[in-house]
Amino acid sequence: MKSRPPETTAPTDGAARMHAAPVICYPIDTLPQADLEGYRAAREGWTKISETVVPPRDARSFTVPAGHFFRIVSIDGPQVGDLNLWNADDMQERFFSGKTRALHGTHLSTGDRLWSCLPYLRPMATITQDTLDWYGFDEWGGAVHDVIGTRCDPYTNRLLQGSEYHFCCHSNLTRAFADATASELREAEAYVHDVLNVFMCTGFTRDTGQYFMKTTPVRPGDFLEFFAEINLMGALSACPGGDCGSKHSSDVAACHPLLVEIYRPDTVPAGWQSPARNAYPGSHGR
Ligand SMILES: [Zn+2]
Repeated sequence: MKSRPPETTAPTDGAARMHAAPVICYPIDTLPQADLEGYRAAREGWTKISETVVPPRDARSFTVPAGHFFRIVSIDGPQVGDLNLWNADDMQERFFSGKTRALHGTHLSTGDRLWSCLPYLRPMATITQDTLDWYGFDEWGGAVHDVIGTRCDPYTNRLLQGSEYHFCCHSNLTRAFADATASELREAEAYVHDVLNVFMCTGFTRDTGQYFMKTTPVRPGDFLEFFAEINLMGALSACPGGDCGSKHSSDVAACHPLLVEIYRPDTVPAGWQSPARNAYPGSHGR
């Protein structure tokens, strides 16, 4: 953390070094843009085929066939959700929060893709609507739907608080995965990964670069909508932090359920094809 005063005197050309202009690490101009009009046209006459209520401080799994849509909806009150995604046909392929962040930035919104881990690295889902897109970045640099936080977990809680809490998002997602796959908790835990923090409002402090959260602006009726690019299994945890305006990893915050809706369109978007896994052959120079 950059909180200590520097011990090293800046070199004479230090200012010049600091004034070098930043360069975007991963320009995405070469990626095919999401055909939002095409995706949205496919919603005409769609059919809702299932609903899953995620109870507070718990998680539930759901499946979404490729070419279908799903929405995460705020219902009873401001609530943050932690989302995991897997390829329903091969659970080794899972959401890659870090590379999604490198490609699309710290917070996601309409048109962004959720990419899968190596060696697959393909879009698992595309965000097709975000009713919180008006929020942008606030005066603290906070924004909604981050891919910077990892998920609240009982191990970090044990480190920092010295106590045991069993309903962190990590544990909730572990139980949901175990239930969905009829696996043991220990086995299921290995499949739980860094999340998309749905509805959570977060950023980094300007002075120390520390991860912060603040009360989510989400209200009942708001939703984040996705198009499934491949067959998906998802799990969503209704974080024990509730609106994440004060505390997490405890039963202190007021918590609310979340709703997951699955929609089947009459026809898939014109010209759409489920993306193939990444074309790199994995030879790594040998
Ligand atoms: Zn959480």
